Amino acid sequence: MPLEKGKDSSSFLCQISDKDIDLIGIKVKECFEVAERFFGCSFRRASYNFKQKGRAAGTAHLQKNELRFNHFMFSQDTRTFLETVVPHEVSHLIVYQIYGNTVKPHGKEWQAVMRKVYSLAPNRTHNFETPAPKSCYEYKCSCQHHLFTPHRHNRASKGVQYVCKCCRVTLQFIGKK
Ligand SMILES: [Zn+2]
Ligand SMILES: [Zn+2]
Repeated sequence: MPLEKGKDSSSFLCQISDKDIDLIGIKVKECFEVAERFFGCSFRRASYNFKQKGRAAGTAHLQKNELRFNHFMFSQDTRTFLETVVPHEVSHLIVYQIYGNTVKPHGKEWQAVMRKVYSLAPNRTHNFETPAPKSCYEYKCSCQHHLFTPHRHNRASKGVQYVCKCCRVTLQFIGKK
């Protein structure tokens, strides 16, 4: 579930508690049960975790039968997250278990599961805020500019020297980006 255009950043506390895992687990179970009642068959239950990072609210890993959820967004609005993101991702697994790889990820089969099984609008995007992009540190040599991660910048400030592979000049810090 990617981000709707035009939304962005800010920071939230991100401590994953046992209660959060339980809430996701209860909702995943409920979504599977609703689908099983609807289709009159049983589905392989998925594993679930909070490994999703970045701009996606969640992802369904079809072959692994695994659901990854974004705790940063879960924390912003837990109720909306449970009511929209969890059924969205479970629907992908249901469609996969019924049709395999033969249909589009957000095609008519997935949309039908969202509408008929969960009575939800088949939205492909979410409205949660996304994490602020990691800051970059700009360095230069004699031929180009280089961008460092905070981790690498930290090492450079402690004396580690980085040399450009092209011009072999030691990189110099010029500013934060
Ligand atoms: Zn999706
Ligand atoms: Zn260079």
